[in-house]
Amino acid sequence: MASEPSVVQHFIRQIISEDLASGKHSTIHTRFPPEPNGYLHIGHAKAICLNFGMAAENGGVCNLRLDDTNPGKELPEFVQGIKDDVHWLGFEWVELRHASDYFEVFYRAAEKLIAKGVAYVDDLSAEQMREYRGTLTEPGRNSPHRERSIEENLDLFRRMRAGEFGDGEKTLRAKIDMAAGNMNMRDPAIYRIRKVTHQNTGDTWPIYPMYDYAHCLSDALEGITHSLCTLEFEDHRPLYDWFVDQVDLKNDPELWRPLVEAGLPTTPSKPRQIEFSRLNLSFNITSKRKLAALVNEGLVDGWDDPRMNTLRGLRRRGFTPAGIRLLIERVGVSKQNSIIDYSVFEGCVREDLDAHAPRRLAVLEPLKLTITNLPAEHEETVAMPNHPKDESFGQREVPFASQVWIEAGDFAEVPPKGFKRLRPEGEVRLRGIGIVKCEDVIKNEAGEVIELRCTLDPETRPGGNATDRKVKGTIHWVSAKHGVPAEIRLYDRLFAVPAPDDESDGKTYQEHINPESKRVVTGYVEPAAAEAAPETRFQFERQGYFVTDRIDHQAERPVFNRTVTLRDVWARKGG
Ligand code: ATP
Ligand code: MG
Repeated sequence: MASEPSVVQHFIRQIISEDLASGKHSTIHTRFPPEPNGYLHIGHAKAICLNFGMAAENGGVCNLRLDDTNPGKELPEFVQGIKDDVHWLGFEWVELRHASDYFEVFYRAAEKLIAKGVAYVDDLSAEQMREYRGTLTEPGRNSPHRERSIEENLDLFRRMRAGEFGDGEKTLRAKIDMAAGNMNMRDPAIYRIRKVTHQNTGDTWPIYPMYDYAHCLSDALEGITHSLCTLEFEDHRPLYDWFVDQVDLKNDPELWRPLVEAGLPTTPSKPRQIEFSRLNLSFNITSKRKLAALVNEGLVDGWDDPRMNTLRGLRRRGFTPAGIRLLIERVGVSKQNSIIDYSVFEGCVREDLDAHAPRRLAVLEPLKLTITNLPAEHEETVAMPNHPKDESFGQREVPFASQVWIEAGDFAEVPPKGFKRLRPEGEVRLRGIGIVKCEDVIKNEAGEVIELRCTLDPETRPGGNATDRKVKGTIHWVSAKHGVPAEIRLYDRLFAVPAPDDESDGKTYQEHINPESKRVVTGYVEPAAAEAAPETRFQFERQGYFVTDRIDHQAERPVFNRTVTLRDVWARKGG
């Protein structure tokens, strides 16, 4: 079970510990209730960590519930994706449920509301209903159908279920108060007619329950104690409580007999809804609809494009579950809406990768360096530590030969002020090898530098007499003979501006895509990097953190994705 040490106090932790201390609840039961109309994104990670985390740290349990009351946009593909992503993030549900498991119960409960005289079938169209609803400053008006008899309502509702009416012709509504200050209490819809095939129940139902009705009853049916949701549902809480109280599942086992018969353990509760603020990250959008548009418009390479902040995108990019959980713990939980700087997230991932990613050598923009005082055919291996701060990572043998690739940027013919690496006649240390001096700069006909000819000071080699001789710079390298060519995908932030979906500048979020967000180069990596299994994370020394692509990487055809650079390069850009 994965959860970060819980040190930060917050109001939900507080409420839960009080409820346990007072004996209000003996166990905590939470749920994470995504709608399977897309893949999960970084915002959902907050809800996942919170729901699963609060249960786990109090010895309780958490359900995964697919909130599938909206057929049409919901797909089995997304159901599977959500399950995979929650597991990947490190959490295990005690029960997997679907809101659609409860359709029969919801139906019975609706008949109960009709029988109690607190629900009626309305014939108003959606547009008329909006008109009758009033505004924040004006009360609504009663529908002309509001006073139908219980018998007539029951008859009409049964015929709605039998499929006798067309989409939108009739609606079942709660009879509450058309003058309520809270608009959600103005006779909200309970059931609508929609003749659409459902991803779980097929064509069984021509009517579907509304979210506000289905959600609270699902919570109650599952015995949820604390129903944690985001702030936009605060105004829905009175309705949440109204439905739970009116239906009173706890005291009406007849309603949920179908679940018992289907073998679904059921002990209804009176759940308490608690709202918290959404996770917002700068440089990000966290709306499934907008993320879906990026995919559908071909602006990214699918839901798992490593630039996407979907959990599968982050995974492919090399972000770690622990790094994501650390972010969520660090941003905390409150009722205050805020925007978290994206660099905080990158910092959390760097922290995790710095501790856990073995080091490797890779050259992304290769320039050949020939050591002229070694025999041309010289080759050997040098032992290098896999982690500079953690000996338990052990060491590996890195092949070295008389020709190596270095980073083109580590040589400057006309060095800028303060340049510490290689220059004509200058010296630099090759990591783990010794000090080389640049004797000759070879250019092609276009005048471009294509090779450096250097001498290696043998006294600076391991075991030599001048191993501690000082030079300003140390650079990394890859043996030209042994290095494996690799496709290296240099990813960067998907959006170039902190608030991509702020449209006040007249631009859409699509227009804010960072043109530099993906650059592909061919570099060289040491064999120990190329041989790694898909989805292995490394630090390429001096470059950043990389992961072997979980789809495309093969030892013979290595493909690496850059997860994050070693340092925050956006701070300087004003990001
Ligand atoms: P979207 O707007 O992306 O469609 P949603 O809220 O409609 O998100 P759901 O699938 O209904 O998506 O969300 C499942 C759970 O995740 C809900 O409890 C929701 O409140 C929570 N959630 C969604 N986005 C965030 C976010 N940015 N921060 C915290 N929780 C979130
Ligand atoms: Mg939703």
